[in-house]
Amino acid sequence: MKALVIGSGGREHALAWAAARSANVEIVYVAPGNAGTQREPKVQNVGLGADDVPALVDFARQYEIDLTIVGPEVPLMMGMVDAFDEAGLRCFGPSRRAAELEGSKAFCKDFLIRHGIPTAEHRVFTDPDAARDYIRERGAPIVVKVDGLAAGKGVTVAMNLDEALRAVEAALVDKAFGAAGERIVVEEYLEGEEASFMVLVDGEQALPLASSQDHKARDDGEKGPNTGGMGAYSPASVVTASCHERIMDEVIRPTITGLAKEGRRYVGFLYAGLMIAPGGSLKVLEFNVRLGDPEAQTVLMRLKSDLIQLCDAALAGRLSTLAADWDPRAGLAVVMASGGYPDGYSKGHILTGLPVIEQANCKVFHAGTAFDEYDNIINVGGRVLTVCALGETVALAQAKAYELVRNIHWDGVYYRNDIGYRAVARERGEVS
Ligand code: AMP
Repeated sequence: MKALVIGSGGREHALAWAAARSANVEIVYVAPGNAGTQREPKVQNVGLGADDVPALVDFARQYEIDLTIVGPEVPLMMGMVDAFDEAGLRCFGPSRRAAELEGSKAFCKDFLIRHGIPTAEHRVFTDPDAARDYIRERGAPIVVKVDGLAAGKGVTVAMNLDEALRAVEAALVDKAFGAAGERIVVEEYLEGEEASFMVLVDGEQALPLASSQDHKARDDGEKGPNTGGMGAYSPASVVTASCHERIMDEVIRPTITGLAKEGRRYVGFLYAGLMIAPGGSLKVLEFNVRLGDPEAQTVLMRLKSDLIQLCDAALAGRLSTLAADWDPRAGLAVVMASGGYPDGYSKGHILTGLPVIEQANCKVFHAGTAFDEYDNIINVGGRVLTVCALGETVALAQAKAYELVRNIHWDGVYYRNDIGYRAVARERGEVS
């Protein structure tokens, strides 16, 4: 069997690595991939952009690809799965209409309310004066979100009025987010602990993946601007067995049923970003129509089942017959980024200290990396590597991951030092 993974990030390296482990897979192509996927056994990069839909359809047809897995959201929103379907090619991911769940926060909020799925109170605005009046009336803390895709950077959790009003100005007046920020959602601030809950969906049924928690803020102690994600660990200790059941009953199942009822039948990975309040009540912060990055890296490292068989079963509507098998150890992922990310950063620096021989309980997934003309690996993006480790406890996985991280260098390297701190504190009995 031949597989194709679309994308070039750490998530896509992990998808390609997991797909290549499948006994039925002879080769995995990655478009466009990175230096890490290039070096992976049974994996080959293809020089096509992740959003070049017609060229990717041609490639899949010409190379007789049996299964394509779309990593990032942009090609899904562009209708990549619809185009593959029309060409009679098997592609794992939601259609363009189903992908709107992530493409528009206003659509997502309306959908949640229509189907009685718990979420924060909100209002949608296009007029800056109306938004400002509402924010002044509600007071801070308050959350301002641009409606469209903004690579994780369109959300302002404003702790004071000034910050909230500046976010309105940036989106609706200065048009800092272009068309994505022509509409904004202003939302009630929620207290609690976040968790990422990802499932595979076959149109009717969902198969839950292991839970995880990511760290979106750039700096230690959840300080600094929000990023695409600076680290993650799995399982998320806040998702207890009863909480897991409630997420399936209150969020995942009504979402799949609601989408099907509205003629947006959903097949693919679905990610619910949740806020779990101290009393245990849960609310949906957002949906993503693909795996989270870096959650995917740590969750896929723990997956013992065959990823390709799971995707095949989902495409065939057979998920109800399956269960996924997990490594009982904890997984932890530390993102190594280019200093300055999520804003400007310098590129082209040579990476040193990458492990030459991989150990069974560790894996370095690449994101913004490439080879220079002398075959050195250099940084070419904001998030550069995700260093993952497994351990009997989160603390042990954390220690192992940071041992690898501290050996890897390039000019300007930046990472957080506290990934997994909540779970580690829980293991020590310091929090409930
Ligand atoms: P989103 O893309 O909507 O998940 O927002 C990005 C991040 O902003 C989330 O992971 C939370 O850390 C934070 N956030 C979003 N909405 C809220 C909210 N209503 N209350 C508190 N924090 C939020």
